[in-house]
Amino acid sequence: SEQSRARMDERSKEAFASAKEVIPGGVNSPVRAFRSVGLTPVYMERGEGYRVYDIDGNSYIDYVGSWGPLIMGHAHPEVVEAIKKTAEKGTSFGAPTELETTMAKLVAERVPSIDLVRMVNSGTEATMSALRLARGYTKRSMILKFEGSYHGHADSLLIKAGSGVATLGLPDSPGVPESVASHTLTVPYNDIESVKLAFEKFGEQIACVIVEPVAGNMGVVPPLPGFLQGLREITEQYGSLLIFDEVMTGFRVHLNCAQGLYGITPDLTCLGKVIGGGLPVGAYGGKREIMEMMAPTGPIYQAGTLSGNPLAMAAGYTTLSLLKQETYEYLERMAVRLQRGLQSNAEKHGVAMTINRVGSMVCPFFTDKHVINYETAKTADLERFKAYFAAMLNGGISIPPSQFEGMFVSAVHDEAAIDATIAAHDEALRRL
Ligand code: PMP
Repeated sequence: SEQSRARMDERSKEAFASAKEVIPGGVNSPVRAFRSVGLTPVYMERGEGYRVYDIDGNSYIDYVGSWGPLIMGHAHPEVVEAIKKTAEKGTSFGAPTELETTMAKLVAERVPSIDLVRMVNSGTEATMSALRLARGYTKRSMILKFEGSYHGHADSLLIKAGSGVATLGLPDSPGVPESVASHTLTVPYNDIESVKLAFEKFGEQIACVIVEPVAGNMGVVPPLPGFLQGLREITEQYGSLLIFDEVMTGFRVHLNCAQGLYGITPDLTCLGKVIGGGLPVGAYGGKREIMEMMAPTGPIYQAGTLSGNPLAMAAGYTTLSLLKQETYEYLERMAVRLQRGLQSNAEKHGVAMTINRVGSMVCPFFTDKHVINYETAKTADLERFKAYFAAMLNGGISIPPSQFEGMFVSAVHDEAAIDATIAAHDEALRRL
């Protein structure tokens, strides 16, 4: 294997110190600060394909992919070209443009449950708006979510959240009023019996169940057979809405999103990440009858100065247009190759690892437990992860700086990149 030389990080250190003077914690999103792995964040300069280059001159094979959006890799020429061409004609109008309709039609065509779709600027806005809609439509106020799931940082959803919140060990955030939190029920992921019990007790008050159809914020956790179907049946029985938060899984795991992969039809779907192609976009959509409750056709309010922004629509539309059935077959092949390589390294070195995967979402957990929910995800050895993360970084591989996030394989990773990753992983495990 490749001789690993010392990775330079002087400039990143300086950049981080400077940022901390004017930005809280030096970052605009907490997980970027690398706190849980005890390192200085790597300041990026540019990305191209599956590679990212930092300001110290190091380069990495990247599996962060901007935390999911970059399924076509960094700076994809067609995406960049679309953004440039659009920018030349003006960046925002606050008036409708035809590109918004083109984009909405493509999303509605690809996502089976979506008749009408509204664009917003982030995943957080998408889930927050979908909740308001579910509550307004059902005239109920309780919601049910799953432990270790992350749905963005809206007040109602920052209860037993995953992702950065799990990493930082903040099960609830100060600033979320108890009166708001009291409307949120949480039960373990993949535990349909607990969902049933919650509905037996509160069913008439529950506006919706919001679920990541593949959990991606407690590491990657696939739904157990029957789980999503069970949610569909219970919500129907009680007149609650089923919301699929496909911010991460949408166009990531299947051409028709996770709902296409598993054949379950939710009432509402939240999208983000991939549909923005690396620009800030979120969306929520669903059945016409429900979506028409939103202003201006209905009484429920939601708006956005930059919603449907032309640059974002251009990047998103171009990205979605590049995604074909064959792309997902390719992603599957590359991700299986990666998963097998990691698994055989773990066996070779006698390191307890469970590697979960759905499509191009891959998550090596440092545990010998079968990871099916947040509790089992938390059996992972975080000290080991820390050492592993540093070794991977030094070996030229950029993975999310958290045990509770998966790696994202892109459609531009090739066999050579995957094999180099497996080799770096082999070396990292040897050093543990
Ligand atoms: N829902 C899910 C499933 C997510 O993974 C995320 C972000 N990781 C969000 C919502 C929030 O999206 P954003 O960060 O764009 O607000």
